[in-house]
Amino acid sequence: MATDIYLDSNATNPVLASAVDAARQAMEQDFGNPSSTHRTGLRAKALLEAVRAKAARVLGAGDGRLMFNSGATEGIHTAVLSALVGLRDRRASGQPIAQRLLYGATEHKAVPESLAHWNRLLGLDLEILALPVAADGRHDLARLRALAPDAALVCTMAANNETGVISDLAGIERVLNATNSPAYWLVDGVQALGKLPLALAATRIDYAPFSGHKLYAPKGIGMLYVRAGAPFTPLMVGGGQEAGWRSGTENMAGVAALGAVLDALEDGTLRTLDELGAMRDQLADALRAAFPGLQFNTPFAQALPTTLNFSVPDVASAELLSLFDAVGVRVSAGSACSSGRLAPSHVLEAMHLPAWRSASAVRMSFGPLEDAATIASACTAIAQCGALLAARPSVRALAIADAAALEDFLSLHPDTTLIDVREAHELAPADDVQMGGRSALNVPMAQLNAHAREWLDAPEVPLVFICRSGQRACQAAASMRAQGHEQAWYLAGGLAERRGVPMP
Ligand code: PLP
Repeated sequence: MATDIYLDSNATNPVLASAVDAARQAMEQDFGNPSSTHRTGLRAKALLEAVRAKAARVLGAGDGRLMFNSGATEGIHTAVLSALVGLRDRRASGQPIAQRLLYGATEHKAVPESLAHWNRLLGLDLEILALPVAADGRHDLARLRALAPDAALVCTMAANNETGVISDLAGIERVLNATNSPAYWLVDGVQALGKLPLALAATRIDYAPFSGHKLYAPKGIGMLYVRAGAPFTPLMVGGGQEAGWRSGTENMAGVAALGAVLDALEDGTLRTLDELGAMRDQLADALRAAFPGLQFNTPFAQALPTTLNFSVPDVASAELLSLFDAVGVRVSAGSACSSGRLAPSHVLEAMHLPAWRSASAVRMSFGPLEDAATIASACTAIAQCGALLAARPSVRALAIADAAALEDFLSLHPDTTLIDVREAHELAPADDVQMGGRSALNVPMAQLNAHAREWLDAPEVPLVFICRSGQRACQAAASMRAQGHEQAWYLAGGLAERRGVPMP
């Protein structure tokens, strides 16, 4: 089995080798502070401006301004603050302002949170309203037409991070223009960079934030485009860097790395949409073959080819994620709250998908530098997942019913290896599971493969997998059985069922 097939690019990406080199050069050789007036500083300044010029070309920024910052969350906050201060100033000078702040119902949480935050802090008390999307994930333009005349700010992402749905930005712009909407327009460009053509200055977009780490640059570097003439208020003031628009010494390693990524974009190193579409089709065929009844949650025709969001009947997201993890494929569900537990996706809920599809949704995403070998390995691993899932009922039949049955099992098979597949963060300090007078070995799902050989080499030694609910343990036992270990079992109901034992 493959050890690590990373298909979670919409969350983040590894850093491009040439970007690592550029960052290293900026840290070791061209380490100057671009605000310094000596030669070392001037070299850094030249690098900063060269990357800015490159970014302006790639984004079609025209006479708009591009500033470097820490990423899209900062860019979104800066944009929202700027628009709202512009509105507050207009209101203070006696001009009428529209009363509504509109955001697409599938926006990244940074957008509605930022709107609520600055609306409250600035005491504006404007109405914040989600613009619904249709079942295909695209904005409801008829509703926008009705709301746009009284919209002061409209926020609509270019492409969605969970589903890959590409917004109809041209259609939105037509509605804003046709209704003479006074709205400022924020377009979150995070997932579009490197995947969709952007010509920002040719549109009425006022603000467009980007995050470097979604496209092979490191975390902590981003950009914000601001249309010439759009209101602007800095989020941070201080030393006056970035022409006073964003104080704080620039993250030059990040800027240099981003420059290398932009070079790759400009010189055509990244794959074309057609090539990416062919990779998506390969994955989609493998998924359909592996999971009967699987449904894709986005029509491919209007989604980024690099994102697949799908659901499998009767299989919860968490179960599918564990299954993929067990064969080394790193994917994600719609969203995860900070405790790491899966929450229903607000994006899929906004698309009014049937509840089972939200509950079993999985996102598989790759980047425009993906290589054919990884996609081929992923297809093999997907087939293995399908086989594991198909084997699941027989494993269920071999489940050890509860803790008492497990105690009996352990006294009959004293050589059993007890394996706790919970993640380290789920274990309380000194949370040593003791059963039948023995300690469990802690092997999280992602590390199963590393132990599989050793277990398969001793097929007579029973394996009993345990976890919190029994679900992952079931997958682990299924995985070992599918690989030929006849004595793999799991504790049904999990540790949560143990009476009188405090749970972490
Ligand atoms: N917008 C979109 C569409 C995103 O996918 C993300 C990150 O997941 C963000 C904004 C926030 O980006 P960052 O966390 O890099 O600030």
